[in-house]
Amino acid sequence: MKIRFIQAKSILTPQKRGFLTAGARPYTHSLSWATGCQFGALYCGAFCYAQMLPNWHFGRREGEAWGEALIIKQNAPELLAAQLARARNRREMRIFMSPVTDPYQPIERKLRLTRRCLEVFACYEDLDLLLIQTRGPSVVDDLELIAAIPYAWLGMTIETDRDDLLFGPTKSQVSRRLAAVKRAVECGVSTQIAVSPCLPYSDDFAERLLETGAQRIVIDTFAIGDGSRGARTGASPFAALADYDWRDDEIAISLYHQLSAYHDSVEWSGAGFAGIPGRA
Ligand code: SF4
Repeated sequence: MKIRFIQAKSILTPQKRGFLTAGARPYTHSLSWATGCQFGALYCGAFCYAQMLPNWHFGRREGEAWGEALIIKQNAPELLAAQLARARNRREMRIFMSPVTDPYQPIERKLRLTRRCLEVFACYEDLDLLLIQTRGPSVVDDLELIAAIPYAWLGMTIETDRDDLLFGPTKSQVSRRLAAVKRAVECGVSTQIAVSPCLPYSDDFAERLLETGAQRIVIDTFAIGDGSRGARTGASPFAALADYDWRDDEIAISLYHQLSAYHDSVEWSGAGFAGIPGRA
């Protein structure tokens, strides 16, 4: 992994359109302390839309390939502290961390940039929402801190309970992620599971999701969630790797109905992601 450190000029990116604004409670800002993602070499890196976005294309240098390079904004916590201190509209701020990288990718254990950003958030009580979206079970390191931020939610991505579909170094990932959600709920953290995008799953998947106790579950599909009726996914490396019909929404719809029979807050796609209740 090629790692490059930069001094960024800002860390909170205003959201005006797109997936994060698609629901009744849109996000106002995103926060990503890296361009690129160490999980880019895993299964999700094959369909990840972040590799198609301008900030990756124009931010990387020659020889920096997706999943093999990471550009880190090393002053992220200091920038966040400065931006929050001068924000006049903190009560309206709804922040998604992070849409184009993962806050608990392996290097977080060394750098602790996510933790230091959380420590900044913990100094303020008046934001509306912070969603910490990850597929990294090491989020359990920070649950106590997350629980101390009154507007923080943990979002854990769990696309399937079939480890055999998750190529890359993902052994036991699903169990560890489910366990992390359970632990978060036990610690009093508001928690949402994102089955996004929904991959083929075992007969027990709905039951395993329900057992975690997560307050919300959002389900999404490749064809709806990629914002282009599957065109983006079709152009991604994943389309050539998948040995099932990823355009078929039926498995996701079926899971939605299975869960809805037992859970009050099963949500759908962008409206679900951008629908977490605020504090007001
Ligand atoms: S963890 Fe998220 S940002 Fe990183 S490669 Fe996977 S889908 Fe993309």
